[in-house]
Amino acid sequence: MSNSLPVVAVASLGGTISMTPSDAAGGVVPTLDATQLARSVPGLSEVATIKTTSLRQLPSASLGYGDLMDALTWAEQQVADGASGVVLTQGTDTLEETAFLLDLFWKLPAPLILTGAMRAPQAAGADGPANLLAAVRTAVHPDSIGRGVLVVMNDTAHYARWVSKGDALAVQAFVSLDGGVAARLVEGCPTFFHARQTRPQPLARPVRAWPKVAMVTAVLGDDGELAEMALKGGYEAVVIAAQGAGHVSFGFAERIGPLAAQVPVVIASRAAGGSTASRTYGYVGAEIDLARRGAHLCGWLSPLKARLLVTALLASGVAPGAVGDALANWSKLTRQ
Ligand code: GLU
Repeated sequence: MSNSLPVVAVASLGGTISMTPSDAAGGVVPTLDATQLARSVPGLSEVATIKTTSLRQLPSASLGYGDLMDALTWAEQQVADGASGVVLTQGTDTLEETAFLLDLFWKLPAPLILTGAMRAPQAAGADGPANLLAAVRTAVHPDSIGRGVLVVMNDTAHYARWVSKGDALAVQAFVSLDGGVAARLVEGCPTFFHARQTRPQPLARPVRAWPKVAMVTAVLGDDGELAEMALKGGYEAVVIAAQGAGHVSFGFAERIGPLAAQVPVVIASRAAGGSTASRTYGYVGAEIDLARRGAHLCGWLSPLKARLLVTALLASGVAPGAVGDALANWSKLTRQ
């Protein structure tokens, strides 16, 4: 019977889903591996034949680009070896970033699903087992094919493109404000709400060291000094989480031209949702002025995701002078 089940490869990277109490640390720390996680899920073996691997045991803030590229290589290998889908478990703190970064490079139709937990395994109402079960169910579902990387949490699937962590501790932590959620799981079965979108061409694997790309939030009373200081720190591009639809102060605006003459400067909105504008506001420091000074407006991309896209573009060999066009092209293809 189990021979007819699809194979799903599950790898653990750490996070709350894998954490148990440590007296020495005074709180929970990652200890459980993928095999232990899979064993804790009632009914998992009836959904798929599970192959487990433990890749890392890290809190997700400490995952690095190398860890994620290793996970990507591992995931591609699992599909090559016959897995129908792949699931990565990790901490939720950086899930919106890791999912997006992996999605930029994921070239296979097979689903790559990321999941985690908001409550550690010992907590009353721990959500890890339910999330892992939902992730595996999504991984084996034919409607999940060709949708890139999905985040499955709380019986909801999110596209890597849109997902963000909307709450620090609640079980319903993830939202997809602008694009909407990808699917909801009902009785274990994902119902997708959109037809598949044409996905942008996956990026080539990095051909150079990962560049440092700064993300600077424009705040009240700010003259942009921090953005300028990033250059002294060796940052190769600056993403500005700007006010509203892509706006900064007069003083900040004056720094944009000289900055953009040296490195790509990307303007995202620091608002929780919504896009940068392109032809609405005409004052100094607004989107039209910043674009004239050489900055690139990144539309619907959140600052976190814009920073990763610029980082990945540079790492995969795109020249700094071509980042603006690459960003525009990417945004065009992913507009819904
Ligand atoms: N809330 C986080 C989690 O869900 C904390 C730790 C982490 O991101 O690794 O896993």
